[in-house]
Amino acid sequence: MEHQARTQNEKLEVKTTTCYMCACRCGIRVHLRDGEVRYIDGNPEHPLNQGVICAKGSSGIMKQYSPARLTQPLRRRTDAERGTAQFEPVSWDVAFDMLEKRLAHLRATDPKQFALFTGRDQMQALTGLFAKQFGTPNYAAHGGFCSSNMAAGMIYTIGGSFWEFGGPDLDRAKLFLMIGTAEDHHSNPLKIAISKFKRAGGRFIAINPIRTGYAAIADEWVPIRPGTDGALFMALIHELLETDSFDHDFVTRYTNAAELLNMNDSSNEFGLFVRDPDAAESNPLFPQNHLWWDSEAQRAVLHHTHGVKPALSGQYTLADGTPVTPSFALLRERAAECTPEWAAQITGIDAATIRRLAREMADTARDHKITLPIQWTDAWGETHETVTGNPIAFHAMRGLAAHSNGFQSIRALAVLMSLLGTIDRPGGFRHKSPYPRAVPPSAKPPNSPNDVKPNTPLSAGPLGWPAAPEDLFVDDSGGPVRIDKAFSWEYPLAVHGLMHSVITNAWRGDPYPIDTLMIFMANMAWNSSMNTVEVRKMLADKREDGQYKIPFIVVCDAFQSEMTAFADLILPDTTYLERYDAMSMLDRPISEFDGPVDSVRVPVVPPTGECKPFQEVLIELASRLKFPAFTKPDGTRKYRGYQEFIVNHETAPGSGVGFLIGWRGKDGSAALVGEANPNQWDEYAKHNCVYHYTLPETMQYMRGTNGPYLKFAVEKGFRKFGEPIVIHLYSDVMQKFRLAAQGKTTGRQPPEHLRERVARYFDPLPYWYEPLERDTTDLARYPLAAVTQRPMAMYHSWDSQNAWLRQIHGENYLFMNPLMAREQGIEDGGWIYVESQWGKVRCMARYSEAVEPGTVWTWNAIGKAAGAWNLGPDANESQRGFLLNHLITDELPTTQQMASRQPRMSNSDPITGQAAWYDVRVRIYPAEADADHTLPQFAPMQPMPGSMGTVRRIVQTYFAGRGEFAARLRNTVKRD
Ligand code: SF4
Repeated sequence: MEHQARTQNEKLEVKTTTCYMCACRCGIRVHLRDGEVRYIDGNPEHPLNQGVICAKGSSGIMKQYSPARLTQPLRRRTDAERGTAQFEPVSWDVAFDMLEKRLAHLRATDPKQFALFTGRDQMQALTGLFAKQFGTPNYAAHGGFCSSNMAAGMIYTIGGSFWEFGGPDLDRAKLFLMIGTAEDHHSNPLKIAISKFKRAGGRFIAINPIRTGYAAIADEWVPIRPGTDGALFMALIHELLETDSFDHDFVTRYTNAAELLNMNDSSNEFGLFVRDPDAAESNPLFPQNHLWWDSEAQRAVLHHTHGVKPALSGQYTLADGTPVTPSFALLRERAAECTPEWAAQITGIDAATIRRLAREMADTARDHKITLPIQWTDAWGETHETVTGNPIAFHAMRGLAAHSNGFQSIRALAVLMSLLGTIDRPGGFRHKSPYPRAVPPSAKPPNSPNDVKPNTPLSAGPLGWPAAPEDLFVDDSGGPVRIDKAFSWEYPLAVHGLMHSVITNAWRGDPYPIDTLMIFMANMAWNSSMNTVEVRKMLADKREDGQYKIPFIVVCDAFQSEMTAFADLILPDTTYLERYDAMSMLDRPISEFDGPVDSVRVPVVPPTGECKPFQEVLIELASRLKFPAFTKPDGTRKYRGYQEFIVNHETAPGSGVGFLIGWRGKDGSAALVGEANPNQWDEYAKHNCVYHYTLPETMQYMRGTNGPYLKFAVEKGFRKFGEPIVIHLYSDVMQKFRLAAQGKTTGRQPPEHLRERVARYFDPLPYWYEPLERDTTDLARYPLAAVTQRPMAMYHSWDSQNAWLRQIHGENYLFMNPLMAREQGIEDGGWIYVESQWGKVRCMARYSEAVEPGTVWTWNAIGKAAGAWNLGPDANESQRGFLLNHLITDELPTTQQMASRQPRMSNSDPITGQAAWYDVRVRIYPAEADADHTLPQFAPMQPMPGSMGTVRRIVQTYFAGRGEFAARLRNTVKRD
């Protein structure tokens, strides 16, 4: 929507689009004067943020006019070494010709020589399609180094997860527990929801080693040691079971608690669900022939047999002599060991507090049960007159995920939430479309090296959800096929890949060298890599013949960063204010609890300089390389550009399922599914850039087993199959991997050196184990846990080029408890060293009562390399800011591995490959008396051609504020 007015010969306009100063995607209004962005506020008509804006969102102006903008394609000068940031401008024609030639050769010879990895973008449906059509398996986005444990741990248990996939229903909750979260991706909506929840008298408990962000307004802060959340959840499960306070009806009917397991330990089906030979399997991916034990008739029956009350405990024998037990009996056995006293020693939370927390949950469920007069029918044909709920809501994120025990800890949280009966019910956790998905989802990665063929798209998308060893992407000897080793026996359920391993693996040529690495908006030479100093050396390292070990690096970004210094070719992206974007149901939409919602961005200003949206770059390359999905039968290109692609692309010919769900059909009258509408972008632009489809109330709850909803979800392309989604308290997926590792199955088995690892960690029931790094750490020497958090005013490393936000976070301290600090002789504000067994940094200390004494922490990615982001070489970010990554190893030899000289593995979760950022242990001590800057320092990065001036000049010019601002910007090239 566009409003125009003219005052004293000025053209004033207000345009609506979608913010991208963080991943939350609020609706914004951009106010322009004579085409120049002058003001950004929240769009009151947008359902997500309802007019609310945050510091980041309103500072989008300074991102648009940042002096760190890249404005033209750049090629590394032939006489310059990689990493020295010496570039020359080239035209887009030259850049495209270079890429077309190189990529065409790789695609025709060995497609996996091309690797595409992307950061926190919101277009993975397109980038994933590009990789699939290219035929390379070497693709992933940032999830592996972010919170893939959260997605995997939850989805492998309940078929949904937090944030984009689901969240706490704070409108109806009475008790809210937030764990391992400071500030969240779902930023403004969560702030709005928490404030309403608190005003309505809800009780908010924050469980976190640090009390910052949302936790600052919690009613109670429960400090916990990093990496121990799983032990707390297991103890809470213990208490709920011991006091018989779990939701019996929910657990019995909607989870696999009552399904019978084969307990014959000499059978190769040991620990798997027994099947009724007379009942149809219906779908081998999600068999519907598991058995219950009828506790009255004392015999096995097909699960969900009408009128049967199944046993949740006991041992039984089937007619064929197979010993069986309900899976819940094993969960009880497991939880019996996990007493509050046991957990207290691990977590630092005393046993009485753990008991009280469990009691509070149980009391809330008992005393505040919600009953809504909404009739619904479950997948087994039973009609329920009401929807009920227990108003206990949870929210969790990276604090749990970024540990090598994160997957199992998050499984424990999902089981706890399920025992409380809070899944997709009012007041608890609610799914967001297209979730829930099957457990696990039906998409599988390729599973053989033969799936990678010259000039041929992959048969499946490069990422997926393995359900058994047969789904792994390994060769005949069990070795990895992907450069990041995702879906290998090292990280079998690496559903988001391991971007953090790519540079090290490619540098070492393990499992093979690659030719071209394309990185989109990820700062792999700084805050997105562990072991940053070494990774920077690897990026510029050469073979004996003088060629770089990673021969060609393409960086696509809107800003110059530490990473752009290591590029051979830089492609300048646009900002979010200059382009079209689709936040799609095929990717990461902004759905609400009551139905699917997607949104778009439309340009409010033209691209700066020669900037080109990365989407257009992909469409251009896909057309030049003649990918089938981008080419007509006569070989000509199918789409002129991204806009046309988004409107016309379908998941399958004639499916009617495309990127956007709103205004489909030729006349725009269809929703969710329908023919392409050439005016679809205009409709979104006219309607605040958002489309919200509200489900009928009868389909808004219990969607995993809601019969009509499941049918609807298949019809509308949210799911492939309509089988009910039963919650996996017990994971037979995990047990299948364990059986293979134990040599009990005839199919694929892990290589010998990984058998014990897979058998140990692939436990079908959640459990807590020490993070892997502790194996190699002398805890007496390195007694402190060190973690980072993302502040509310900056989204990771995105904003150090932003003159306004730099004023909030221009330097960072290591925060620590004063009691502990004084014992170490450290003064508030004093210079200190922080040392792990992997490295050392010098920084400033800051006392804080809001951190438990065994933990130190800092803001993520405030510290920068000198000269990066077009900051002056003496900017605070490099002189008083620091990066904790220098202390974190990217690979982890365990004690046992070092002794047996076995290969190193990524410092990641052994199940999912999630980067274990928060496992590092450190010690701290005072620095030299004359210390006045942080260490390590790097040679200052050079300004790039096309640079838009200095921060000081830009800000002064902006506040002067009259006319021709953007033009003056471009003419300003001097650096302060
Ligand atoms: S929360 Fe994120 S998307 Fe919303 S206004 Fe702030 S920066 Fe923009």
